[in-house]
Amino acid sequence: MRTIFMLVAVAAFAAASAAAAACGGGTSDDGRVDDGRLRVVTTVSPITSIVENIGGTRIRLRGIVPEGVNSHTFEPAPSTASTLANAGLIVINGLSLEEPTLEMAESNKRTDTVILLLGDRAITPEEWKFDFSFPEANGNPNPHLWPNPLLGLTYAELVHEQLVALDPGNAAYYDTNLQAFTARIQDLDGRMKEATATVPEANRKLLTYHDSWAYWAPRYGFSVIGAVQPSDFSQPSVSDVVGLIDQIRDEQVPAVFGSEVFPSDVLETIADEAGAAFIDDLSDDDLPGSPRDAGHTYLGLLARNMQIMLPALGGSAAAFEGFDTSVVFSGESGAAYPQ
Ligand SMILES: [Zn+2]
Repeated sequence: MRTIFMLVAVAAFAAASAAAAACGGGTSDDGRVDDGRLRVVTTVSPITSIVENIGGTRIRLRGIVPEGVNSHTFEPAPSTASTLANAGLIVINGLSLEEPTLEMAESNKRTDTVILLLGDRAITPEEWKFDFSFPEANGNPNPHLWPNPLLGLTYAELVHEQLVALDPGNAAYYDTNLQAFTARIQDLDGRMKEATATVPEANRKLLTYHDSWAYWAPRYGFSVIGAVQPSDFSQPSVSDVVGLIDQIRDEQVPAVFGSEVFPSDVLETIADEAGAAFIDDLSDDDLPGSPRDAGHTYLGLLARNMQIMLPALGGSAAAFEGFDTSVVFSGESGAAYPQ
């Protein structure tokens, strides 16, 4: 009798394991792939790159927001539910950036899988910034912390802490990567201070289409004087456009900026009417170039934006020459970026 019970139990366990393997694509039911690596799921590619720098070869990492997609209105495909269900760690910016993905994660994740909300953990509500596309009346602060490299480092520290807690056997590896990433960010911050100081003081004003510079600007002595994109991510009204043209003329801004993920004819029109240069290839919510490019990293995003922006405002980006934008670890990355 006891033998029969054991056989039934073994058969049931085998069936459950087979079912888990079938729906998890080789993922076991403990949030790890078959070789033991923690399965980590992220949203936007700048965050994926920060996590990649710390997790390196020792995690299996998957971003879910494709390049070129508006992350603020992104709705995950139904198939993403199984990706989230198999994750051992889910890393999200938070501050209301990815609400549909967060809801899907909460309702599909394994009971003990942590959802790490980086933006909510990195700063306190007193440090939240409300501005053009993120007015206080709507209650959701500007979620773009990562264009500020020191806040990107805080994100990396939070990721490191979580990886060490979930995967203590690889703690020394994650420590080494965090140390290397910290050194790279400190180097970059110094270059950013040097390069931004070359912009004439009167030109240290940003007018962008997408409102992603709120946390970067104060550290480097810039002010964000406007963002074109309305809070519901629709097109701006005619009166908004007229007001922006007047503002650019009054403030004599030499250039206005769009980003690759938010192409805008409206901003081009505004720039033309106001007599400013129009630069449309900054990177904010996704990484520059394609995944095959060397600079398709978080560090590449930070450096390349300066190389585009500062000369257009009358400064020099020479301080970034020789800056290493590659990931800080060697070996085959465990990251997958959706196209
Ligand atoms: Zn954004």
